[in-house]
Amino acid sequence: MIIVLFGKPGAGKGTQAPLLAAALGVPTLATGDELRAAIRAGTPLGLEAKAFMDRGDLVPDSVILGIIKHALSEPRAANGVLLDGVVRTIPQAEGLARVCAELGRQVDAVLFFDIDDEEIVRRLASRTVCEICQSPYTGLEPGSACEKDGGRLVRRKDDEPEAIRNRLVVYERQTAPVLNWYREHGTRVAVIDAVGSVQDVTARALGALVG
Ligand SMILES: [Zn+2]
Repeated sequence: MIIVLFGKPGAGKGTQAPLLAAALGVPTLATGDELRAAIRAGTPLGLEAKAFMDRGDLVPDSVILGIIKHALSEPRAANGVLLDGVVRTIPQAEGLARVCAELGRQVDAVLFFDIDDEEIVRRLASRTVCEICQSPYTGLEPGSACEKDGGRLVRRKDDEPEAIRNRLVVYERQTAPVLNWYREHGTRVAVIDAVGSVQDVTARALGALVG
């Protein structure tokens, strides 16, 4: 069971991923985590990735996909995985399909967390993080104090309304077409209403996978 988590920035994928992973008893593979782990472990692909990053370049898809392929072939992924942030463009979807085929597997479903742009702007604008421990908060103004360590809460630059709109434009141009790519290639795309409480959205996602 290989499931691709999909949605606009701010749709709540990152919140849902660990909850769904726990409910399904499978791990989440997130591109950023796997990349950092490969670099820490000093694997050949990790070193290759680090060389790009040290030069200030983006790590190319071929290297990322190699790292994901390695992770998919590990015992922890034998029963299935949730892929978070792995597929953001059509070339990445094609690359992942190739990697899965090489392993004798396939993407079984795409969970699309659906939410409209204005809700995202509203949601992210109400999000702050602690300057010290990076804990996320919702509904506390910048300048408030972190409950854990008293650190100052700040709004991430990425979460400013203008930055969000730019990310949404990039999403529409590069990422949204991936959904149709999956539909055209016969992969089930489950559309999940991502507006509501965290528990409700988790329940909808699990219901869609079972149903
Ligand atoms: Zn803190």
